[in-house]
Amino acid sequence: METIFTKIVNRQIPAHIVYEDDLVIAFLDITQATKGHTLVVSKAPYKDIFEIPRDLFKHLFGVVHKLSGAINKSFNPLGINLLNNNGIEAGQTVFHYHVHIIPRYDLNEIDIKLKNNSSNLNVEDYKKRAEMIITALL
Ligand code: AMP
Repeated sequence: METIFTKIVNRQIPAHIVYEDDLVIAFLDITQATKGHTLVVSKAPYKDIFEIPRDLFKHLFGVVHKLSGAINKSFNPLGINLLNNNGIEAGQTVFHYHVHIIPRYDLNEIDIKLKNNSSNLNVEDYKKRAEMIITALL
């Protein structure tokens, strides 16, 4: 299915493109949550991490690695967050696989904070959760 990112790939709408190859394109996120906020996008419109083929995923993350280095070099941030939302409940708004590279200059500039939900858990709970994942890998 065509998305807003397909339109960028096809040059139907403008974007500030910083990288492109046969499989992947990267451009500045329009919101610029922080200076240099960049999206790395698969050209083919796979919806999310469950749809994107593993080889393409590996290639895309190679590009994420390369661009993180370039952003680090050009803007000299104090840190970088990588963010990939999958599903509405996870905050995904564009259903076309992409990874955010978000350079960080200040701890409080944007809010990406994980809550600690461990207070009611015991060792058995952790064991059960780990076993469920291990079983699913088989
Ligand atoms: P997500 O919420 O993880 O699906 O991220 C989608 C991102 O796409 C948001 O951060 C938007 O700001 C960004 N976005 C949407 N439309 C455009 C556009 N035309 N050019 C650049 N970024 C866009």
